[in-house]
Order: sequence, then structure tokens, then C-alpha cells
Amino acid sequence: PESVPRRHDVRLPPDTTREAFDEAIDALQRALGEDNVVLNDKPLVDGWYLEHPNTHDAFHLVDQEDLVSSASAYPASTADVQAVVRWANEHGIPIYPISMGRNVGYGGTAPRVPGSVVVDLGKRMNKILSIDAENASCVVEPGVSYFALYDEIQRRKLPFWIDCPDLGGGSVLGNAVDRGVGYTPMGDHFAAHCGMEVVLPSGELLRTGMGALPGKDGADNPTWQSFPAAYGPYSDGIFSQSNFGIVCQMGFHLMHETGHQSYMLTFPRDEDFPDIVEIIRPLAQKGILGNIPQLRHVVQELNVTGHPKSHWYSGSGPVPRDVIRKHASQMPCGDCAWVFYGTQYGDESAIKTQLDMIESAFSALQGFKFFLPSDVPPDHYLHDRALVCSGVPVLRELEWLNWKPNSAHLFFSPITPTRSKDAKVVHDINVRLHAKYGIDLFPTLCIAGREMHYITNIIYDRSSDEEKRRVNALMIELIAETAREGYGEYRTHLLYADQVARTYNWNDNALMRFNETIKDALDPNGILAPGRNGIWPKKYRGKGWEL
Ligand code: ADP
Repeated sequence: PESVPRRHDVRLPPDTTREAFDEAIDALQRALGEDNVVLNDKPLVDGWYLEHPNTHDAFHLVDQEDLVSSASAYPASTADVQAVVRWANEHGIPIYPISMGRNVGYGGTAPRVPGSVVVDLGKRMNKILSIDAENASCVVEPGVSYFALYDEIQRRKLPFWIDCPDLGGGSVLGNAVDRGVGYTPMGDHFAAHCGMEVVLPSGELLRTGMGALPGKDGADNPTWQSFPAAYGPYSDGIFSQSNFGIVCQMGFHLMHETGHQSYMLTFPRDEDFPDIVEIIRPLAQKGILGNIPQLRHVVQELNVTGHPKSHWYSGSGPVPRDVIRKHASQMPCGDCAWVFYGTQYGDESAIKTQLDMIESAFSALQGFKFFLPSDVPPDHYLHDRALVCSGVPVLRELEWLNWKPNSAHLFFSPITPTRSKDAKVVHDINVRLHAKYGIDLFPTLCIAGREMHYITNIIYDRSSDEEKRRVNALMIELIAETAREGYGEYRTHLLYADQVARTYNWNDNALMRFNETIKDALDPNGILAPGRNGIWPKKYRGKGWEL
């Protein structure tokens, strides 16, 4: 994508003069080295997934120059991160830490407060600090991607899997801190972590879990990656989806490799949705569904081929149901409504037993079909699911972005119990509001046992202000309507952080008041990622920052 000349000069941090800013940047350059602090004064380039900018949200939903940093800083060590934090306190300049910034669909690398200094940890802090083959665990810095961890495990010929999200280029640590999900039995990334090293907003260094107990003669604690909770309140949770600290190291459990079999099920009718969910519930709760399987609407079978929307439909609104049907009937999935992608694990006989149980449970639904990877052509999406579900990072999901010219995307991500009554409420709201705003609905339900992440991928043309406005209005209404019914998002784009945070308002906003108490105690100057997840430090509250 070509770059357009900047309309504005460097976006200064709030309440900072150019003179004070230049002095502060000089000081930061002296601390980190001149080349490791770079002003954001050049034309903005959206790039693409693997060459993403750290200057703004590449998938801008507002004006490209609205959510921009003033500069990027590249620390090389925990000590450098402490220096940046102390510098921010001294100069009153907000900083916004990112690991690799491939948080696509949720805001990318953009700071919530324009003019913040983005602390790009991943560029120089990208070491796999250890892989403990006996404990089946590792410790990584923020810049370690799924690809890098995977490659290192292969290089050392270790019998382990990692758990990747749909796209493998993101940071293992960053995704876990943001409570992202993957698809093997260890798909809950935060739950798979064990131990953290965190720089607090004061610059002080904290180790959580067993890491708080010094190992013999100054060594790391031998149990740090074995037991997550240790003694006293379990503090790790407050460093996820928050602005209470900068995580510089994080431990993760690795999964032992095992036999696996991916498969696809199809269901013929749109109205099968509640019955499918009811059949899934006991299978998921009992752990018969071995991983985090996905239930998708058939429209996504068109999408994952990588063909643009115009290949299927020349109209301007959402692809009509009969057009989807016509195309699907020519594809391996056939004329169906819902597609389920699952994987079973274990030895051959265990997998066979599980598949028999699953087939027999779904056979209550007339017209359901079962496919193995060997039943579909080599370029079928099922083969990519088989890779992701056995710990191999891929980039196939990027093909969604072919759907439109100048494609960008945004996730709407409510949680429902694995129960048809609840899932249907959320689904019906999605169907109605996507139709109202003329946007294709792409629902993917990631099923994790008692709950499902109901994720809709909203794809828009970022060169169209009209489309951005429509998508924004859709998003605001989706959040409000689902909350009215009692459902909430597990994660959201930074522009909706305030609205989503406000929906969690039980007992006069007790949760937000609790978060603000912690924020003000840990970060009295309000320098660390103000506004992230709707948590504003005292200095910013009630001054018009909340959206
Ligand atoms: P990824 O590249 O894995 O997709 P990001 O680096 O974009 O992830 O991280 C997602 C979000 O999590 C960031 O926008 C930031 O707010 C937060 N975050 C990432 N890394 C850290 C960290 N090391 N410490 C604190 N917050 C972080």
C-alpha cells in the first residue's frame, strides 16, 4: 500500500509542548541509544501482517492519523524497560507497551492516547530464555513469535507442541497477556502460562508465582514454571488485559506431542444451530471434544478459499443466502448451513472411540456429514485446521483479507454459555444487526467447554469513510444489545474498550472502581497505557477521554 503525506506534524503527548517533548526524547535517546528511539514523523504505511507498522492502527477505523504514537522506543532488556518507565514518570509522558503488535482486529499497535510513546518490546527482546524439556515448559521474552518458538522446538528435536492462534506471527507472550485463544487442548493461552517477570509502573521489578522465592545462590526458582499460583493472592491475572505492568518474561507449559485426527462435520439447515449447540455441550464438558473446536457458518467456506467477495457475488450488500447455497453446493462441504472443525487426540484406538461417540451424538441431526482431510482436496481449509490444531503455526487466515479491496477487520467477541438458549440470543442479535447495517456476518464459535467465544469477523474497506462509519455503528449497537441481554465481550478493539468496560457495571461499577483503585496505587502518575481496557488513571478520569 502506498503512503500518503502526513497532514499533521508529530502528534505530541497530551499537555506537552514541542520543546519539552524534544528534551524528553533526547533524554530517552541518551538512556537507550539514539537509534532505539524513533520519532513518528514520517508518512504512515499500513503495510501488511508480517510488515506491520508500530506507529498507528494499520486497520484504522477512524482517520489513519487519529490513533498515532509520537515515537517508538526499543528497549533491549528488562533494565531498559525500567529506564523507560522511570523516564515516563519523570516527564509525564504516557507509554504504550506492545510485544509484537500483531494484535490485528483489536487495535494493532495503536496507543489509546494519541501521542503516547509506543514501547516496542519485541524488536530487541526476542529471546527464548529457556526450554526445560523435563518440565515441558519454556520462558520467553515479548518478541518470540509462535513461528520462532515452533522452529526452535523443531531444531532441538523436542517432542513438544505449542498452541497457536489462527495466525502464527504474533507474540506468544503478548497474545497470552491479552488472553487470546488457540485450538489444541492448551488453547487457553493465559491458563497455559506459569510465572511472569513484570516491570511495575514505578519501575520496580516483580516476579509472580514461585518466582517470588529466590532460587539457591541467586538462581531462578526451580519451581517457577511448575506451579503457577504459589502463596497468597494469585496476582498474575491483574497483569492480563490491563495497564498495571509491563511483562518482560513469561513462562509457558508446552504440550507433549500426540496422535491427532482433524475432521469436518456439516449440518444442512440454518435452524440446526440450537440443536448443534445442545449436542456439543455434553461432548465439550466431558472432554470428549479434545480441543477448542470451531463451529462456523457456511459462508466462511467461501471466504477461506481466498477468493474476493466479487468472485461469488457482484451486488453491494451482504452475499444473499441463496447465493451462498448455490456456491457451497459446488464445494466439498455441499449445500449446508453450519460447518464444525474438530480434532481428536491420543493413540489410534482412543481417537476411533472418540470419533464414534461424536458421530453417534450428532447422528440425531438429520443430514449431518462427516469428512476427514483425505476426503477433501489438498487446498481445502481442513488441512490448515489440522496444522493449527497440532501446534503448527500457519498464515492461511490472512486470506480473509482478500474479501474486499483495502480490507481491514475487526472482531466482535462476546462469550456465551455452551447452551442453545444463550447462543441463540447472541446469534440472532448478530444476524439482525449485520443485516441492518448491510455487513456480511461471519460467525465462528470457539468452543471451550462450558463457554463459547462467539467471534464475528467484521471486514471493511478502510479506504471508505462511509463503510468505517457503518461498521462503527454496527459495533456500538452489537455491544449495547448483547449487554442488555446479559452477554459481554472477552476482548475488544481499543476504540470500544470504554463501552465494553462500562457494560461490566454490576453493583455501581464495583469492578471498575476496584481496577481504578489498583491503577492509582500502582501508577499514580498515570503513565502506563492510559485507557487500556477502559481503565483510566486518576489524571485522565472525567476529562473527556472516555469514548
Ligand atoms: P501480538 O503481537 O501477540 O498479537 P501485541 O503485542 O499486539 O500482541 O499485544 C496485544 C496487546 O497486549 C497490546 O496492544 C498491549 O496492550 C498488550 N501487551 C502486549 N505485550 C505486553 C507486555 N509485554 N506487557 C504489557 N502489556 C502488553
